[in-house]
Amino acid sequence: MKAHTARLAWRDAASRLVAGEPFKKEAALAKLYSSTVAVDNAREATQVHGGYGFMNEYPVARMWRDSKILEIGEGTSEVQRMLIARELGLVG
Ligand SMILES: Cc1cc2nc3c(=O)[nH]c(=O)nc-3n(C[C@H](O)[C@H](O)[C@H](O)COP(=O)(O)OP(=O)(O)OC[C@H]3O[C@@H](n4cnc5c(N)ncnc54)[C@H](O)[C@@H]3O)c2cc1C
Repeated sequence: MKAHTARLAWRDAASRLVAGEPFKKEAALAKLYSSTVAVDNAREATQVHGGYGFMNEYPVARMWRDSKILEIGEGTSEVQRMLIARELGLVG
């Protein structure tokens, strides 16, 4: 459900880009939401696997670790929040 919603968010931003419409807020929203749910989902998947989820032999352990960079690279989550707040006129 979260992954589906994340896809809808980036498709919305992409369709605005293609249509030549403003898309800064939608792109930031899509990046923030998608990276947040990637970490959430990877953490839950790790929990479902129990002890095996923590072992490097299982791909889920790598997915949890690797998902974290999505909240840091190409604009951190804090920066995305600042962008969204600015676009909403909440900060100068
Ligand atoms: C493996 C890896 C791959 C990367 N790949 C890329 C890439 O392909 N392209 C690219 O552009 N960059 C890439 N980066 C760099 C990444 O975008 C930066 O790490 C990121 O911008 C954060 O900068 P920083 O590490 O200097 O942290 P800092 O700027 O020191 O920030 C540290 C923390 O403080 C928060 N913070 C900083 N300023 C504020 C503020 N004013 N208000 C609130 N919170 C704040 C940040 O959100 C962060 O959580 C990569 C980094 C890594 C580790």
